Amino acid sequence: MTAETAPRVGAVIVAAGSSSRMSGLDKVLAPLAGTPLVLHSVRVFQDSPHVHEIVIVTRPELEPRLHELAERHGLTKVKRVVRGGRTRAESSRHGVSALSQDVELVLVHDGARPLVTGEVVTRVVEAATLDGAAIPGVPPVPTIKREANGASAGTLDRAELREAQTPQGFHRSLLARAFAAVMKEGLEPSDEAAMVEHLGERVTIVAGERRNLKVTVPEDLVVAEALLAGRTPPQQTRVGIGYDVHRLEEGRPLILGGVTIAHAKGLLGHSDADVLSHAIVDALFGAAGVGDLGHHFPDTDAEWEGASGERLLVAAVEILRDSGYVPTNVDATVSAQAPQLAPHRAAMIAHLARALLLPEQRVSVKFTTTERLGFEGREEGISATAVVQIGSLPMVAEIE
Ligand code: MG
Repeated sequence: MTAETAPRVGAVIVAAGSSSRMSGLDKVLAPLAGTPLVLHSVRVFQDSPHVHEIVIVTRPELEPRLHELAERHGLTKVKRVVRGGRTRAESSRHGVSALSQDVELVLVHDGARPLVTGEVVTRVVEAATLDGAAIPGVPPVPTIKREANGASAGTLDRAELREAQTPQGFHRSLLARAFAAVMKEGLEPSDEAAMVEHLGERVTIVAGERRNLKVTVPEDLVVAEALLAGRTPPQQTRVGIGYDVHRLEEGRPLILGGVTIAHAKGLLGHSDADVLSHAIVDALFGAAGVGDLGHHFPDTDAEWEGASGERLLVAAVEILRDSGYVPTNVDATVSAQAPQLAPHRAAMIAHLARALLLPEQRVSVKFTTTERLGFEGREEGISATAVVQIGSLPMVAEIE
């Protein structure tokens, strides 16, 4: 979506429920991480670059309090606080009609979902802009049965099911048609998407997030509080590739993946020339985008002179940590005509896994000859290629 075609977006946050399942707690203003619950999601829409204005729909007695809170918390996009209706559809319709005339795309969000993220908002805005209607959905976790007469009448196929979340996004004109149909036919749909489906229009489902839960019972507040306390940024995954070659010479030790292998020839280099470890180190640096082995461990630096592959791996993992990443998976191939390397596979994996602080199942080492072709085939040298995956370290983000 380009800036030229981006529609003007208004968010309607519906916080008009009676909190009937909350044991007397008013969930709209229930404190969550020290902030009234509804303000958490208002903040997400306030901070979204896609959203231009916000309308909060609530019960009449909460109107003045929400006005005051929006102002105090600097929620400048909140244009109006309006009262809800008798049904969910009526409440969201009140909210939509309070949006400015020039709003073209409407997001309806359940104020009881405080853990919505800006990423979900973006996905919904982009899909709804293109398709007319979009909602976030997640596959349900439990096995769901159909019940009839106290017995199971079948198990639903989870692969076909999605739990609907919010915000739900719509072209304003489409939503207006849906509201009109609902009023005319006296329907009471449980969400806006159901109204649009009733018109026979497509509702695109984008990826929701498990954490975007709806606070319905007091236990949900405990879960939301815990999630907020450990709030982590979206896990970033990156991959890197590494390649290395060393020459084979008589009288040198052959060390691969930290394992010394009996052979007439060994690899030549200013270090132990562990070509496998070197390829992995380069892949790690590549994944993190922090240069390469020669940059971090120059042969001109006495500190690294003769350093073992293992020491370089341990140091590389430290450098990665400083950039906020840890290795999560390693796969490597060693090309050598001789000797037979397969008997040493388990020892290499054990050694590499220890140096990389990874479980052994996350380290793979494979071997190939090159059918006597090329320098590996002529036993002039050995090469290694590695592909690694790294993931961002979990970090506790600041909570307002
Ligand atoms: Mg090397």
